[in-house]
Amino acid sequence: MYNIEFLKRAGSVEEAIALLIENPGARLISGGTDVLIKLRHGNTDFSSLIDINGLPELRYIKKDRDGNILIGSGTVFTDLIESELIRAEIPILKDAAQSVGGPQIRNVATIGGNLCNGVTSADSGPGLFVLNALLTLRGKDGEREVSMPDFYLGPGRVDLKPGEVLTGIKIPAKEYNRFFGYYFKYAMRQAMDIATIGCGVSLKVENDRIADFRISYGVAGPVPIRCPETEKAVLGSDISPGFLEKLSAAVEADVNPRTSWRASKEFRINLIKELSKRAAVKALNRAGEEIK
Ligand SMILES: Cc1cc2nc3c(=O)[nH]c(=O)nc-3n(C[C@H](O)[C@H](O)[C@H](O)COP(=O)(O)OP(=O)(O)OC[C@H]3O[C@@H](n4cnc5c(N)ncnc54)[C@H](O)[C@@H]3O)c2cc1C
Repeated sequence: MYNIEFLKRAGSVEEAIALLIENPGARLISGGTDVLIKLRHGNTDFSSLIDINGLPELRYIKKDRDGNILIGSGTVFTDLIESELIRAEIPILKDAAQSVGGPQIRNVATIGGNLCNGVTSADSGPGLFVLNALLTLRGKDGEREVSMPDFYLGPGRVDLKPGEVLTGIKIPAKEYNRFFGYYFKYAMRQAMDIATIGCGVSLKVENDRIADFRISYGVAGPVPIRCPETEKAVLGSDISPGFLEKLSAAVEADVNPRTSWRASKEFRINLIKELSKRAAVKALNRAGEEIK
């Protein structure tokens, strides 16, 4: 049984904001793939709903005049997989989208819902962290932009003020131009399973050296995280087995996974070290490089 007391359809973002303000206990529903599971489990926080599913103003993937890539919060994972722009410029988000659930889920689940649920296993988290993505939040007083690290406040908690809607995601041109990335998800099953560990890497190679390096994990802490010490440790490395060894040795100090029924902390640390290397090798391959 779904204990829905109130459901109103918003015809626009402005209307969704007005409905959220008029109905302070109400929550947004987009694809509903998280919300309906919560309702099914008797969670009464979601019994008053404002439906923004399929609003055209929230569903787009485009480039602006400055070369920034803009993704609407209501974009579903299938859109990301099928987008030529995503494939050509930021395939790390295609990797992430392809790893989510199964086809039925990917046809309805949105990238905005994936971020706003605040969970550490969200597959779009690590890719957006290494791309230094900015999130646009709109409320009654206008828009504000927040970074990924600032958006995640804690497990299941994000920086959405009452009456705010996540409208879009911006990948600034300088954060993806000449970068190559890859997202590697380890799950207990090949499909329809959430990440035991997810790892995103984005790197830049200049003069046969690592000129910029970014690494982020899901499920390596209470929310998705970047690994600043690891990133510093490998900067300037040559493209050699030594780089991969330095990377996997450094990363342990940046993470804090826990034991759950899905995997022990020790197993997760092994995965974290291994996936750092695998994701880095795949990102290097996309850059046209091989470990020498
Ligand atoms: C069978 C199954 C498999 C799954 N597999 C995966 C997986 O492999 N990887 C993964 O990461 N997730 C997975 N999920 C979880 C889920 O599909 C994703 O998190 C999805 O992206 C949520 O998007 P949604 O549009 O369905 O969100 P909804 O359920 O509609 O909303 C989720 C939360 O976000 C809020 N919200 C939604 N849109 C906005 C907005 N624009 N502004 C502000 N708040 C908003 C809602 O109020 C709610 O709190 C799975 C779920 C199911 C049921």
